[in-house]
Amino acid sequence: MTKPWVFSDVSYGRECPYIKDVEIWIKPSIDVKLRYIAEKLRFLEFVAYLKIEKIEREDKIIYFVYDMYIPKQIVTQASFEVDKEELGKVLEYEGVVHLHPWRGESSFSHIDKTCVNLNHEISILMTLDGYTEASVKVRVPCGKTLIVTLPRDKIKVCDKEVLSELDKLDELIREKITTVVAVNQSFHQEENITHSLNSGKDDVENDEKLMELIFSD
Ligand SMILES: [Zn+2]
Repeated sequence: MTKPWVFSDVSYGRECPYIKDVEIWIKPSIDVKLRYIAEKLRFLEFVAYLKIEKIEREDKIIYFVYDMYIPKQIVTQASFEVDKEELGKVLEYEGVVHLHPWRGESSFSHIDKTCVNLNHEISILMTLDGYTEASVKVRVPCGKTLIVTLPRDKIKVCDKEVLSELDKLDELIREKITTVVAVNQSFHQEENITHSLNSGKDDVENDEKLMELIFSD
């Protein structure tokens, strides 16, 4: 793409023990539009720019995509080029999404990583089957910025209002649902050992027994 490099003074880090879980939530109406364009163009790439609201929660950071802009662009099966007149306008958008026009999985190309992802707070990749990967710049307490790659299960189609409902659900789950983990489910990979444990025991107790068995040799 022709967007110029934006050099910044941030220093990039590789890992941070304090980083929170990160998710991207795409407003359902935006998702419908993106998929519609993808189906219309079929085997051609395209790019769209995204407005993002960052929602900082105790346990995670959610980047909520609430608006999008389709710039004038020339697209081929393997590239997109944004019209030069649009470059000023697209700088107003913190996020970007582009299509790799085939079915199934895909991951960012080298050019995506160096030119697209580094120039945006968030960058989402989609194929004709949906979102497959995203790259997010996360500022961590030490002042560094991490480039975090999110797998597809961290890219959700969901409205912001659902958040408060999920909080209520958390309460309800705590109140009403008693969880019992069956021993042979939690340790199915250790089949021989779990079979020697009796069922009906508290699973914490069984955990301890299992550890004893593992370490007794
Ligand atoms: Zn790409």
